[in-house]
Amino acid sequence: MKVSVIFTILIVTISLSLFVYADIQSPTVKEGEYKASVPLQNDFTMYWTIHQKDANTIEVDDIIEFALVGKTSGWIAIGVDFVNSAMNQADCYIGYYDVENKTAVVVDAYLPGKSIPKDDRVLNGTDNILEVNGSFDITTGLTTLKFTRFIDTEDRLTDKVIRNATINLSFSWNTNTKDITKKHTDAGTTTVNLFDLVHHENPTVPDTLIPFHWIATGCVVAFLAVAGIVYSFVSWKSPSTFALDFVFHRKLSKLIRNKYLGDWFINSILDITIGEIFLVIIYLMLAGTWFAYGYLNNMDGYELGKAFGYVDILNMTFLILPITRYSVLMVVFGVSFERGVKFHKWIARFTLLNTTVHGVTMVILNADGLDYLIQMDVPDFQLLGIIAYFCMVIIVAFTFEPIRRRFWELFKTVHLLFGIPVLILVNLHASGYKTMLPVMGFSLVLYAIDHLLRFVLGVLIPAKIVNLEYHEDSGVTVCTLQKSAITFYSFDRLGYGKFVYLYIPSVSIAQWHPFSISKYTHSGSVVEFTCCVKNLGHGWTKSLADLAQKKGNSYVTDLVVRAEGPYGKLSVSPETFDTVVLIAGGIGITFINSLYNEIISNQENASKKSYYVIWSTKDESLLKIFPEMLEKKENVKHSFFVTRQTNQTNDPRFNFGRRPDFREILTRISEANSDRFIGVYACGPREMMIDVHNAVQCASSFHTRFQLHKEVFEM
Ligand SMILES: Cc1cc2nc3c(=O)[nH]c(=O)nc-3n(C[C@H](O)[C@H](O)[C@H](O)COP(=O)(O)OP(=O)(O)OC[C@H]3O[C@@H](n4cnc5c(N)ncnc54)[C@H](O)[C@@H]3O)c2cc1C
Repeated sequence: MKVSVIFTILIVTISLSLFVYADIQSPTVKEGEYKASVPLQNDFTMYWTIHQKDANTIEVDDIIEFALVGKTSGWIAIGVDFVNSAMNQADCYIGYYDVENKTAVVVDAYLPGKSIPKDDRVLNGTDNILEVNGSFDITTGLTTLKFTRFIDTEDRLTDKVIRNATINLSFSWNTNTKDITKKHTDAGTTTVNLFDLVHHENPTVPDTLIPFHWIATGCVVAFLAVAGIVYSFVSWKSPSTFALDFVFHRKLSKLIRNKYLGDWFINSILDITIGEIFLVIIYLMLAGTWFAYGYLNNMDGYELGKAFGYVDILNMTFLILPITRYSVLMVVFGVSFERGVKFHKWIARFTLLNTTVHGVTMVILNADGLDYLIQMDVPDFQLLGIIAYFCMVIIVAFTFEPIRRRFWELFKTVHLLFGIPVLILVNLHASGYKTMLPVMGFSLVLYAIDHLLRFVLGVLIPAKIVNLEYHEDSGVTVCTLQKSAITFYSFDRLGYGKFVYLYIPSVSIAQWHPFSISKYTHSGSVVEFTCCVKNLGHGWTKSLADLAQKKGNSYVTDLVVRAEGPYGKLSVSPETFDTVVLIAGGIGITFINSLYNEIISNQENASKKSYYVIWSTKDESLLKIFPEMLEKKENVKHSFFVTRQTNQTNDPRFNFGRRPDFREILTRISEANSDRFIGVYACGPREMMIDVHNAVQCASSFHTRFQLHKEVFEM
């Protein structure tokens, strides 16, 4: 045979082989039907064949045939030649098999950014799919979609030319629905050169990640719970040690007194213990694991933004925990709810900061398609996330100390009005109901149980006022109530810093206010307790004073009243000290009075211990309401400071016209006692508590350490 004939046969054979088209009439893919394939994930494979007349140039009528085979009865899609992220500028083909009408549907679509695929025609492009066929096999559950298009469709707006280069390919499918506006149930990305007809064995399909963030969270929670229970038990029963004191009681530094410098904020940092610093570090590390998981689990070009979103799942979960009144922190760590509020504030600020970074990152990553952020027909409902963010900003703005202190009810109303939408919106945004709700649900359930307990014990079980008396000279309303003992179940005694929330509709129909139990008696199934309420000259405390003056003591038993609680726990156990210092400023005596009574009358070996009572008050009028504090006792040393009166008295315990110098007092106490640890319990105005804190810092030495529990009647 002549060489030329052989050559001609060879050319014809090669040409024919190049132009063997896949059988588009057949609804399934047969063995060897396509030149190339790539398994995109276990049950999803893409096949294709390219038909080119000239291998070196792309001509307008060169064709590519695709077949997508996936285990789903819903939709399947590919995004060809995306830029940076799976849904960014991708030439998309999305379709399904309509079993009822026995037709395959494939839409020539485009992904301008993160959004549902847009039909090319909607974006002023053209539908360039030449032929479509497909099937759904009910026995194997496989959907097959076959379609063809020109390699260069000349649609420069919404199609990409199939390039002879390694390009990005995204793929996704939904196993539940044929509705192509619904988000994928699974997705991934790979790279491929469609002109390379070698069978691809190993595309970069993302592996399922081990949920290491969950493992880390579980370990940390379990560790802290065990450590917390052990610590609360040990610290309550046995004397302190140097190590425990160092970790749990030693504060970072002295506090500052300068409201123009924002002392309320700076002091919240300076007032921290080593134990709390440790907690903060652990929390940040935990946030780091959530960040890492969020990053690695979302390698779609938006991983950085999403990683910050994952940290918010953790934040939102732990944000709610500290504000449950029947607090889990109380059970585990002995941290009562009014002290837990501090952690709520910290996490809230961290959440806002993190959410800001999350939002900014997402905006930067979406810079090519910002309209996507405000569309409501996209799967992730970005707009809801944005609204939730602004609600958070408003909430935090109203928590700043000047607003919080002056307009407490406004601060609470804003919390409620914007807090509930935040909780709903974050769970709708970015499928939060799948990612956030299962985690945050844990806190929400505890929160709901807490409200149920509060409702049953606080609202359903009534209390009764048995005495209501207003002392005009001191501006204090003394309110004595009775309530069923069953609601007073608590882990320790009522004199140990307990307080209740009072609700008296005749004073205010909506407000509940916290007041310390200043004294109590227990008889059978009833607890009788007294709250002494300082009239602030406005608000609830003034209305109560008005009511007391109007009603006198008559008819008070007819008043509707509810008392919720008791809450509160001392952070330092008075039982472990041989020397105890009690410091009160003004109405702060309510807290100190109950603690004093409890210690003196109910503590073992009380008579063998030393007590110091220091009470600073403007005038003598308040002293009359707490006569038991004035009684002389052998092992109690009293010092009363009446700051705005200059009377003379022979009683050496009284100091008129001057304030106590706490540093000097504590230094003298440490010199007079050889104890290793001395307990200090203080309650009074914020400024005075700063002085006490600083005095404790200064007077503590290697030989004698003061351990301070302080209350300021603020949350
Ligand atoms: C744990 C605790 C124990 C307290 N014990 C006593 C006590 O024994 N005797 C006493 O006279 N006062 C006590 N207070 C303070 C008392 O709760 C407030 O003085 C009172 O609620 C003021 O309400 P108002 O409407 O008169 O004044 P507002 O002007 O409305 O409030 C004044 C300040 O009181 C605080 N406050 C107001 N309402 C609440 C609330 N519902 N929850 C928490 N704080 C609030 C805020 O810091 C606010 O800035 C205690 C506070 C706390 C947190």
